[in-house]
Amino acid sequence: IPRMSRGLPVRQHIPHVKKVILISSAKGGVGKSTVSSNIALSLQKLGKNVGLLDADLFGPSVPKLFNLSGEPRISDSGKLLPLTNYGLQTMSMGYLIPSEKSAVVWRGMMVIKALQQLLFEVEWNNIDILVIDMPPGTGDTQLTISQQVKVNGAVIVSTPQDIALIDAIKGITMFNKVNIPILGLVQNMSFYVCPNCNHESHIFGNDGVKREAEKQQLDILGSIPINEKICRQSDLGKPIVISDPDSPSAAFYVEIAQKI
Ligand code: ADP
Repeated sequence: IPRMSRGLPVRQHIPHVKKVILISSAKGGVGKSTVSSNIALSLQKLGKNVGLLDADLFGPSVPKLFNLSGEPRISDSGKLLPLTNYGLQTMSMGYLIPSEKSAVVWRGMMVIKALQQLLFEVEWNNIDILVIDMPPGTGDTQLTISQQVKVNGAVIVSTPQDIALIDAIKGITMFNKVNIPILGLVQNMSFYVCPNCNHESHIFGNDGVKREAEKQQLDILGSIPINEKICRQSDLGKPIVISDPDSPSAAFYVEIAQKI
């Protein structure tokens, strides 16, 4: 448990990590994990040494997205060694518990302990940027991470539908409260490009997110189309930035990574 100062927990550095970026969405299913993994791979493409921490204790997706499984080995100093694929170091609750034993049945203390271990007891190897794939929502886990870890900035992922947007704004309020700079919004599944004629359809409208972002004085870091390949490649454990690096879809993620 971290030291306290004036009632607030002292933010700790994650060992061997220079910079920490949170990828957050207030609602599940908006594509946060897909964005996290493709941005992490894009940052790597841009020459950084990158780590990806899956902080979604109750629904980890990194093992599947990176086609990784098995228990992490323990280092000489008793820390968890990351599992690596495509040159990217990863750590996830999914490696620590067998999938049939869901974390849902855990009691409070176990969750807190597991989170501390994921945050501070991983033997990262010389990381320039650690991308943390946050759990959806603004609950205890999100607050613990925001209050205990030295974070450089947060990225909010949202789909253009209004409900998702309203939830995303709740996330923004939380980061403002804990003084974490918000780097901007990523609009996911925001338009559809017809594979036959290349026509762009803005299925959910185009203005909602833009207007809300302006109101909140937030940058839109980028918009990602809804694309069958993005989904299929994620399911196959080979995110599109790796499997189809020259595709327009991969380029959208790299463009966002350049702003981080
Ligand atoms: P979250 O982490 O917010 O719960 P996921 O990243 O798991 O969301 O994405 C939910 C589903 O949507 C997955 O099946 C994923 O492959 C798919 N998906 C995410 N982004 C896109 C996209 N731009 N186009 C098509 N499918 C997408």
